[in-house]
Amino acid sequence: MLTKRVKVLNESMTIAISSLARELKAEGKDILSFSAGEPDFDTPEVIKNEAIETLKKGFTKYTAVAGIPELLEAICVKLERDNNIKYKPSNIITSNGAKHSLFNLIQALIEDGDEVIIPSPYWVTYPELVRYSGGVVVEVETTDESGFKMTAKQLKEAITSKTKMIILTTPSNPTGSVYSKEELEELAEVLKGTDIFVCSDEMYEKLIYDGKKFISVASINEDMFQRTITVNGLSKSVAMTGWRFGYLATPNDELIGAMKRLQSQSASNINSITQHAAIAGLDGRADDDIERMRVEFEKRRDLAIRLIEDIDKLSVVKPDGAFYLFINIKKVSNNSMNFAKELLAKKGVAVIPGIGFGSEGYVRFSFATDEKSIIEGIKRIKEFVS
Ligand code: PMP
Ligand code: GLU
Repeated sequence: MLTKRVKVLNESMTIAISSLARELKAEGKDILSFSAGEPDFDTPEVIKNEAIETLKKGFTKYTAVAGIPELLEAICVKLERDNNIKYKPSNIITSNGAKHSLFNLIQALIEDGDEVIIPSPYWVTYPELVRYSGGVVVEVETTDESGFKMTAKQLKEAITSKTKMIILTTPSNPTGSVYSKEELEELAEVLKGTDIFVCSDEMYEKLIYDGKKFISVASINEDMFQRTITVNGLSKSVAMTGWRFGYLATPNDELIGAMKRLQSQSASNINSITQHAAIAGLDGRADDDIERMRVEFEKRRDLAIRLIEDIDKLSVVKPDGAFYLFINIKKVSNNSMNFAKELLAKKGVAVIPGIGFGSEGYVRFSFATDEKSIIEGIKRIKEFVS
């Protein structure tokens, strides 16, 4: 009955486990969940107030598919101010979350036999979307030793005549690794003279620690600007996961045109109220809130790292960004799915198996939760592995 293309799709493992943990908790079980990739903070007041005002004004109708002009302008200003990349409003499309932006992009660009290079561990959704489009996933394995970053040499070796695109995520979900300017320049050098596109997923750009600097892939040079599709949103930086807001930017008119046509025949525009609220998340009004949450995440990261390092059988690379620890469990188990299932059954602690991100022997622990839960959760993990 079902199409071949939909049969290849797996359910998002991150969503499945987070939902399971939520259900068990609702049944009254003592569950501590470190599975969800979403901030535990509320959306900042300034954004909520903008939404209330918009609703009161009756701004409740269809809009242009890509988004209202004020929003597209606000995104351009943000990308120039924060990321040193100069786009025009016509280079931007807003969608129902960055996940939807990625869906549109991959549907428009990837077809049967096209190869897409994805460094592993990767965010669960990328390979699924590539396969759904008929593309071939080319994984480039990175490990703790290389700080979970793809080197220029690895990229060079992975490229073939069929390579259509690479997906870079900085800061990374699930490892928190952040590419430096020099590392991006080395990757850019490998791509020079090719017609390979780069999808740069910058969802966690605001969550950077130890005073490190975030560099946008498209800002490296003109060649990278032309080949890069910058993907971002507000789910992580201003805790707007439920509002569904994402965007992408590319100077490639043909590509933008195709994605607009695709969205015009599927979702149309995104929620009109979210569009106005998003402007308040982008134009600087929420900057104090963004920094407040970032500082809190950094404190939690330091706490969680200290506690994990105290467990002999586990190790972890300190993440420079995002809100995840990608914990090496290889001394305990080489089956991350079984590890995660038993940890949930015996200790009521939910984490995501590394295998979902393409890397066996690890689990992802989200520290987007309160300190008390982090302390208790890691205590239970310690008991479990001992
Ligand atoms: N990219 C990455 C790396 C993510 O972790 C996520 C979700 N957590 C997304 C994109 C999609 O986010 P959203 O659809 O909520 O904008
Ligand atoms: N991306 C988040 C995560 O990694 C949210 C869940 C999802 O969209 O897959 O957990």
